[in-house]
Amino acid sequence: MNDNKKPKKQEKNLDIIRTISLLVLLILCIVGAIAYYYFSEKDGKNEKELAFTELITMINEDKIEKIEMTTGSSTVKVTVAGEGEEKDREKTVLVPSIQAFMEWIQEKVDKEDKKIELNQKPVNPLIRISDTIFSLLPTLLLIILLIMIFKMQGLGGDSGKVYGGEDGLKPTGVKFNDIAGLDEEKDELIEIVDFLKKPSEYLEMGAKIPRGILLYGKPGTGKTLIAKAIAGEAGVPFISMSGSEFIEMFAGLGASRVRKLFEKAKKMAPCIIFIDEIDAIGSRRTSNTGSETENNQTLNQLLVEMDGFDTNETVIVLAATNRPEMLDKALLRPGRFDRQITIPSPDLLGRESILKLHSQNKKFAKDVDFKSIAGDTAGFTGAELANVLNEAAILATRNKHTEITNADIENAVKKITVGLEKTNRVISDKDKKLTAYHEAGHAVVSKFLPTQTDVKEVSIIPRGLAGGYTMYKTNEDKYYVSRTELLEKMVALMGGRAAEKIALNEISTGASNDIEVATGIAKDMLTVYGMDDSLGPVSLKVDDPYELQIFGDKVIDQVGNQIQILIDNAYITAQKILSDNMDILDNVAQKLLEKEKITSEEFEEFFK
Ligand code: ATP
Repeated sequence: MNDNKKPKKQEKNLDIIRTISLLVLLILCIVGAIAYYYFSEKDGKNEKELAFTELITMINEDKIEKIEMTTGSSTVKVTVAGEGEEKDREKTVLVPSIQAFMEWIQEKVDKEDKKIELNQKPVNPLIRISDTIFSLLPTLLLIILLIMIFKMQGLGGDSGKVYGGEDGLKPTGVKFNDIAGLDEEKDELIEIVDFLKKPSEYLEMGAKIPRGILLYGKPGTGKTLIAKAIAGEAGVPFISMSGSEFIEMFAGLGASRVRKLFEKAKKMAPCIIFIDEIDAIGSRRTSNTGSETENNQTLNQLLVEMDGFDTNETVIVLAATNRPEMLDKALLRPGRFDRQITIPSPDLLGRESILKLHSQNKKFAKDVDFKSIAGDTAGFTGAELANVLNEAAILATRNKHTEITNADIENAVKKITVGLEKTNRVISDKDKKLTAYHEAGHAVVSKFLPTQTDVKEVSIIPRGLAGGYTMYKTNEDKYYVSRTELLEKMVALMGGRAAEKIALNEISTGASNDIEVATGIAKDMLTVYGMDDSLGPVSLKVDDPYELQIFGDKVIDQVGNQIQILIDNAYITAQKILSDNMDILDNVAQKLLEKEKITSEEFEEFFK
């Protein structure tokens, strides 16, 4: 969908430069190393070293037969007079001043008529090359390293990927029609599109230009898509950069990248700057210590740039984050990101329309009902829904179906939520029985809890990391969850462990995830939702554990105790429900052992 040929081309060039540099470096190292070791080995073979003073004495005592000097080398090879192989009599001597030594020995031979054979050897060209490479290697290495770092840091001036716009490229290609649901959000942003299309009309009217818009939302809810669609609808360039790209190894680079990004945008105006994950640079400024200084500098530069726009510069900065609470308040002041739009996870209707939109280029069987899939995927984001359909298409191809069936989609949903079914895993009868009771426990307990949704499927076929699973129907989109519902959810979670204990008088590691989730709920009830009577509606959610000290040790102890009590109560209630309905628990577990998987209808039969 995107037209990002230019950035791709630049990235490709960069990759080629990096690969060539590395190859050159590697070849140089190998050639150098081979030459060095080959020749230095050869020269050093069968030779012993001799001290320079010893050499002088031996020359004076006529004990030296031959001296061989190599141009440019300060080591000479001498042959000691005597019997035996010449090679065995060879020695090397390191000469302090080769020039002086050459003159001295020449004089000795000429004037004193010494019988020493003097040889002058030209330097071996390969040794010269290897020596040069070795002496240049550190410099070369440094240069290549610096080039690579500069390229990676974007010092070459490439700040932000540019999609579309006036420089001959097509716009992002994304339109509002490519976004399903989010109608209110689109309505709110249409005026931005209009403003980008005809800035002069707004300016003549004296209207103030919106400067920055912050999009809040979970990952995958379509924030990037919306930003691209605004640029696409207005037909203006879209310069995108991720907050994490500003945070670099070298101090000061983040700020310089911000400056470059805005310079580039001003040249391309009207245009859109999109900063994804703005929390990476825009998190609250702290005391100027250590690594935080860099973050602060980058953020300060961003604030300076946003303040420094001329009123008639049509550059709109869109930023996205999924952690709005982290942002520095200064970013949200008028003239900066003063418009904030929350991008929610899609509701039932939104999910249905996202599924329909992403189904356009795929073949579906007649039995596929997007409405019911939307019902089963409460809490899924747009990206996850797109992924469901893609996984379904993969499963359908693997299963050699001619079209994507409802079962393929259901399997894709399960694959994404619980993991892939592992039918081939060998499981002992003992483990199977344990899993059957554990899952039956969850299912039976939740049946007796009014706030819990109906069971959709219970299975003891392993999926992902889970040995089995109990799936619940999720037909309702909820904004609020009641205290009773949270308490009952904990009871349902404890159903697995309770069944193991009651039916098999044993407990296993299989309940670890249930315990983790239940403890999380208890913790949130006390510290986030203020649902504990003894503590009252107090938020104990703090960024820094030290902040808790203002509540005093008594409160902290109380939180710990209350969490324990909530979990204990849930566990006791689950055991009570199961022991009152032991026959149903046994029957469900037996059926699971027989069939491995039971549907919601089969499960309901046990309660008739
Ligand atoms: P992040 O925070 O991880 O950057 P995001 O919120 O920017 O995520 P996008 O990258 O915009 O999410 O969305 C990912 C993909 O999900 C999109 O390319 C699109 O295929 C799909 N998607 C998300 N929301 C929608 C939607 N409302 N309509 C259609 N497709 C959607």
